[in-house]
Amino acid sequence: MWLRRGFLTQKQLDYQNRKSMAPSARSLPTSVSDEKYANVKWEELGFGFCRTDNMYVAKCKHGESFQEGKIVPYADIQISPCSAVLNYGQGLYEGLKAYRTEDGRIVLFRPDQNALRLQSGANRLCMPYPTVDQFVSAVKQVVLANKKWIPPPGRGTLYIRPILFGSGPILGSLPVPEYTFTVFACPVGRYHKDNTGLNLKIEDKFRRAFPSGTGGVKSITNYSPVWITLAEAKAQGFSDVLFLAAATGKNVEELFASNVFIVKGNVVSTPEISGTILPGVTRKSVIELTRDFGYKVEERVVPVEDLLDAEEVFCTGTAAIVTTIASVTFKEKKTEFKTGDKTLAAKLFATLTDIQMGRVEDKKGWIVELTDATKPGLKL
Ligand SMILES: *Cc1c(COP(=O)(O)O)cnc(C)c1O
Repeated sequence: MWLRRGFLTQKQLDYQNRKSMAPSARSLPTSVSDEKYANVKWEELGFGFCRTDNMYVAKCKHGESFQEGKIVPYADIQISPCSAVLNYGQGLYEGLKAYRTEDGRIVLFRPDQNALRLQSGANRLCMPYPTVDQFVSAVKQVVLANKKWIPPPGRGTLYIRPILFGSGPILGSLPVPEYTFTVFACPVGRYHKDNTGLNLKIEDKFRRAFPSGTGGVKSITNYSPVWITLAEAKAQGFSDVLFLAAATGKNVEELFASNVFIVKGNVVSTPEISGTILPGVTRKSVIELTRDFGYKVEERVVPVEDLLDAEEVFCTGTAAIVTTIASVTFKEKKTEFKTGDKTLAAKLFATLTDIQMGRVEDKKGWIVELTDATKPGLKL
């Protein structure tokens, strides 16, 4: 009902969202309406939670495999206080986006890659997982069931958040009796507000990941332990943090939720996938595009000195897309890098978003188009 009161700002949305977190599940029948767009002030979208209409839920008992789940109205979920996720952090998340193109199509970017990454995380955390087809189908169903929340072209995207977790109770020993796979979505705008480039702090005290740990998968346990560093950096005026490898304290790994690249001459370097950094889908795509541009790309150990000696630095991620890094501060010393239109980051941003927004032909087979369920010939 509140949606009808005119356009809402992000602040008002946040307030409405808080109010709507009441424990009882309310159904919002808005998905059946013909409205093209939800009443959101798209220009003011940030990267915050915004309640949408529907979500996907599938459950799986220990020893069984995931069957087709279903779309249900977005609502709070009931969970055992003794669940594996609440007590032992057995959970994974994924993140990808749906894009509305200028010619009216709705597309996804490499959703199979997110499905495979969820599977590798599930193996690491002893969970069963949906097949790639089940994952992609769930994502498509959630997008179509929340279609009016996909921002108009150029105003934002629909961020999709699949989660997989141990929902059954476990106190002592394995197995966990039940697992849940859920997908929900929120319209989002920019992740970083700093238009002119990020100012990073190189974190020299806390570590994000350690060898043979879970840094290489999107385990929910990887994030809140380092919020403390992000909070401190933000309070000091930085945009994000850059973590160092725990084993040496000398090599660069990644940001809070994005991968890092450095440019010097014709050589672009990025930390190699060694189990302590997250293998980003954007990272993988950007490596390919950078090679297409004629650069030499090295996946290798990147010492802090190499970063400080770079001409240009940028980060990549579904949320961050490709974002220029204007400076890094290490042990109180600030080093600046090239920013602006002439950077490789700007070229990569343009090329990647042109593909994602359907402005150029997708020669790589990265785009998956959605067909409306109301039209014949649909294959979800
Ligand atoms: C999700 C994430 C990334 C980026 O991965 P994409 O697949 O490109 O979105 C990078 N680092 C961390 C720690 C992440 O959680």
